[in-house]
Amino acid sequence: MSARISTQPTDEQLAAIASTAVRQADGSWLVPSSDGSKAYRVTGTGCSCPDFEHRGGFCKHRLAIGFVCPPAPLPKKFEGDPFQGFA
Ligand SMILES: [Zn+2]
Repeated sequence: MSARISTQPTDEQLAAIASTAVRQADGSWLVPSSDGSKAYRVTGTGCSCPDFEHRGGFCKHRLAIGFVCPPAPLPKKFEGDPFQGFA
């Protein structure tokens, strides 16, 4: 999580944003702005909102999409020798 986020959105705010996001055919997401006047395109590497363009990192839209679309589970690490991973 980036320390550059000045106002950390709450889970409720992220869930509200995520509930309005629309998945596009190319895998990106279209997220309406909070006043509904426009929509931002969120991809795996960025977002078209001014917040992301000025500060980079994770704007609330990217956080919200992460909220509805969690990363794939980690690969199973400790098959076989249970101590192998600690070397
Ligand atoms: Zn954004």
